[in-house]
Amino acid sequence: MLPSLFISHGAPTLPLSPSPAREFLAGLGRVLPRPRAILAVSAHWETPTPAVNEVAVNDTIHDFYGFPRALYDIRYPAPGGRELAERVRKLLGAKGVTVGVDPTRGLDHGAWVPLLLMYPEADIPVVQLSVQTNLGPAHHLALGRALAPLLAEEVLVLGSGSFTHDLSRFRYHRPDDPSPPDVAAFADWFDEGLRAARVEQLLDYRRQAPYAVQNHPTEEHLLPVFVALGAAGAEPTAERLHSSAAFGVIRMDAYAFRPA
Ligand code: ZN
Repeated sequence: MLPSLFISHGAPTLPLSPSPAREFLAGLGRVLPRPRAILAVSAHWETPTPAVNEVAVNDTIHDFYGFPRALYDIRYPAPGGRELAERVRKLLGAKGVTVGVDPTRGLDHGAWVPLLLMYPEADIPVVQLSVQTNLGPAHHLALGRALAPLLAEEVLVLGSGSFTHDLSRFRYHRPDDPSPPDVAAFADWFDEGLRAARVEQLLDYRRQAPYAVQNHPTEEHLLPVFVALGAAGAEPTAERLHSSAAFGVIRMDAYAFRPA
């Protein structure tokens, strides 16, 4: 059975130059069973209430500014997944969550950057589910739990964000600097919570975790981890697949979650 995943997508330039996270993602698609379809939950699609995109072929959204031209030339024309979009609406609907449909939106870089590395052929149908930043961790854990049946249906639930995301400081670091102590303290706390499945504690991370607000001034890049965690059911087991840092402060850690 496929695990659910949380991956850190890093800067849009991730595909353009070698890094530990790039090499990890490039190998990840080969070690997983091939999914029938992918449900991507990216930090870069925020809506007030949940929505899925339902398209024939996904457009590639270049939702960033001032990067090298080569990045804007990249296309990731993965098929859409009407059947999966419908399934997601049904599973969430059964839990009382109404899911809107966006009939035009393609894939933002939080989805296509990692997928380009994992599945470069762009031949697996991809649907995106939006995040609701104002609704916090418990809401996203509940979304994930409602979607748990997808794991047995050969659907890859892929949460895409950033394990830490303090963009105010990355300019002061070199690309391969180690994490400063406050970043490492937060990442270690969260890692221990995931591995020990201390779900209630993780839900309260903003109060309990060291340097939580500094590492996530806003929550959208961490919320996808709660969807992936929830998709592994009430007793999830977590495996850290990767750990590295970009510019010290952007942790690129990745996890697989499986039902116990
Ligand atoms: Zn991002």
